[in-house]
Amino acid sequence: MAYLGILGGMSWESTASYYRLLNQGVRARRGGLHSAPLLLHSLDFAAIAAQQQVGDWDGAAGQLIAAAQGLERAGAGALLLATNTMHKVAPALQAALDIPLLHIGDAVGQALQQQGVCRAALLGTRFTMQEDFYRQRLAEHFAIEVRVPEAAAMVEIDRIIFAELCQGQFLPAARAFYLDQLHILKAAGLQAAILGCTEIGLLLQDCDSPLPLFDSTEVHVAMGLEWLLDERRG
Ligand code: GLU
Repeated sequence: MAYLGILGGMSWESTASYYRLLNQGVRARRGGLHSAPLLLHSLDFAAIAAQQQVGDWDGAAGQLIAAAQGLERAGAGALLLATNTMHKVAPALQAALDIPLLHIGDAVGQALQQQGVCRAALLGTRFTMQEDFYRQRLAEHFAIEVRVPEAAAMVEIDRIIFAELCQGQFLPAARAFYLDQLHILKAAGLQAAILGCTEIGLLLQDCDSPLPLFDSTEVHVAMGLEWLLDERRG
């Protein structure tokens, strides 16, 4: 049996979505009592978030590597790191593993490419929106140009993620703010929006969005399902 590893808890609000969507995907394909063979290591997000705040990315990477190696030893054949932001340390994580890390940026890039999108807005934490690791992967591997909201809006988008979404609060004011940003980005000529934070889809579900939305959680789960359901893997 091939197990898919999940490195989660960042936050658990979205890790719960991964768990549900992976199981629903396996049931949809295999039917009956089939469910997803998974190994989950769910970290305490407070410790990771504190390291993000002070820029201790090596320390955070160390925690992820220890957890991921545990999943590998337990029998995981591939790994989903269930957060966009922590893909900042994806190269170090992959280098410490013998199993493949199914990269969330590749899942997003492939989905955009399949829909013919080459200019996309990106919403996520300030790390994901402002630093190079995410935008560069989309540019270099998929020729996708990414635009982010203006500076003050990025501060508020980031605040909402940590102060609300990761703490299970999905409030109308936050929803309205995100939708306003999507209207502004559409007016700037963008074709679609990447929900580049795994909790944003929970806020915007069933919303009337002005732009087509590419939810990083959904496309990452789809990548995991493709790996799990590969016939050659049984
Ligand atoms: N889950 C979020 C993401 O996808 C934010 C939490 C984190 O900083 O890891 O980026």
